[in-house]
Amino acid sequence: MNNVTPIQTQTQLRSHTFHGLAPGPRLLVLGAVHGNETCGTQAIMQLLQELDQGQLAIQRGTVTFVPVTNPLAYQLKQRSGERNLNRNMATCGIPQDFEDRVANVLCPLLDAHEVLLDLHSFHTGGAPFVMVGPQNNTGTLEPFGRAAQEMQLALHTGPYRIVEGWLDTYARGAQRRAETAPTAGGRTHALVSNPNYGVGTTEYMRSRGGYGVTLECGQHDDPQAVVVARQAILHTLALLGLSASPPAPVPMGREILQLVEVTDREHAADSFSREWCSFDAVKCGEVIGTRHSGVAVTAPADGFVVFPNPRGEVGQEWFYFARRRANLPPADLQTFKP
Ligand SMILES: [Zn+2]
Repeated sequence: MNNVTPIQTQTQLRSHTFHGLAPGPRLLVLGAVHGNETCGTQAIMQLLQELDQGQLAIQRGTVTFVPVTNPLAYQLKQRSGERNLNRNMATCGIPQDFEDRVANVLCPLLDAHEVLLDLHSFHTGGAPFVMVGPQNNTGTLEPFGRAAQEMQLALHTGPYRIVEGWLDTYARGAQRRAETAPTAGGRTHALVSNPNYGVGTTEYMRSRGGYGVTLECGQHDDPQAVVVARQAILHTLALLGLSASPPAPVPMGREILQLVEVTDREHAADSFSREWCSFDAVKCGEVIGTRHSGVAVTAPADGFVVFPNPRGEVGQEWFYFARRRANLPPADLQTFKP
């Protein structure tokens, strides 16, 4: 799929749909929403071949695979084409960039399904993890009623660590940006100050009545990430009853981390106290970084540094802070029935 099509001529999105002959749920599996995160793409291509050869069959419901969701970023072997596709997910009448044009096709595809498995990978080392949305709520930001089904999906995708609460935390950061620099100009500021900018594939899916998870399968070029992605797809097909395999037992306890705070980089000279990796544990009061002014940025409680970005742009996310919500021992997993 690494063809030599010139840039700017990416004019299509490729999807593959299989309909079981019995009714059932409608699953959408996305690869390479970020163009340099190709473990999902590789896993999907393997499974398409196995579906073609009859080694795997869809018994009921519908599954659609999109191996490369951002073709321009994939071609460029980078995270984004003209912007991050996994933000500001919505259709628009007058597209401003390549990702707006993809969203105009991708959103109707999301609308046509009810469950989303979005396959990503990450830059720094560490174990796979899976991101879920909010707990059930009737609020205005991200009202939701399918948390139990979504948790069941997360558990079956495999990783030990489950991360929740992204949009809520992001929206508070966006509100603070809007308040602290209300007159700053430019499209970038307008976007990062708008909570809608925090809406990616899974948030869009929930806003339409569905549910879904973002699976971070491992480091970008680790072959094991492809195995993680492949197992997650197979287990999801089994969980939803789309394939004939019985759902795999969920083998072990899990840790749930709740994102509670996002800290922005305020100056190019703001620096971390050390090279943080996602999920490094910190004690209350521990110094995470130092502002240009010399003021220390400390952990507000015992918790974890998540998504640290030492090269984050000024006025945008520097790192997230998470706290442990729960450890789920195997017995408790039984209560998470869909
Ligand atoms: Zn990604």
